[in-house]
Amino acid sequence: MQSSVLKEKLGFVADTLMPGPYQCYLCDEEDMIGKDGLCDSCRAKLKYLPNPTYLQPLDGITVGLQYSSEISSAIMRFKKNGQTEYAGFFTQFLSVPQEWNADILIPVPMHPLRKWLRRFNHTELLAAYLSRATGIPYSTKLLFKTRFSFEQKKLKDPAERRRNMRGSFSADPHVQGLRIVLIDDVFTTGATVYECAKVLKRAGADKVYLSAVTSPSH
Ligand SMILES: [Zn+2]
Repeated sequence: MQSSVLKEKLGFVADTLMPGPYQCYLCDEEDMIGKDGLCDSCRAKLKYLPNPTYLQPLDGITVGLQYSSEISSAIMRFKKNGQTEYAGFFTQFLSVPQEWNADILIPVPMHPLRKWLRRFNHTELLAAYLSRATGIPYSTKLLFKTRFSFEQKKLKDPAERRRNMRGSFSADPHVQGLRIVLIDDVFTTGATVYECAKVLKRAGADKVYLSAVTSPSH
């Protein structure tokens, strides 16, 4: 991808986020690492996706990269192995279009028990980094995961995924009138974010968008 297109997609300069990578984030290669944390070979393999189609109650979606086995294993290292340095790396693939006029970023919440088990919520880290890069504030106090559910990844059927999420979230009334950007790592069937958007709209949110790092092509 041409660098001008890449810059437009990213919306900010990624090198402000990087602590100075010594290994490629995707393959652990130690030579020729760019400020984006990638070796030349991994960078050449990345595919950016056009924004996927979406349905109400969402008002818009941006995704960065096409899902691949390399991206998948990097996401596992980030969220399950606790390698929090991946937050800065993945944030460079998130974007918030100007025309959204976003008031606030809200990470897709995790149930407190799961957060305790994992020690952190990876989407909160993404939102914190994106907030720093864009100047848009973020909050973890406006949307909550109130019911413990199976991991969506383990459910293959879209209807089953929707059922698994139903009644799982609650929103604070202070979302009234806000233009909100949900932050997530992977956009698959959208069952989780559609449920979040529904709950936020019912609580009075004006607009609900999604910015995700990666998605299988649609
Ligand atoms: Zn590499």
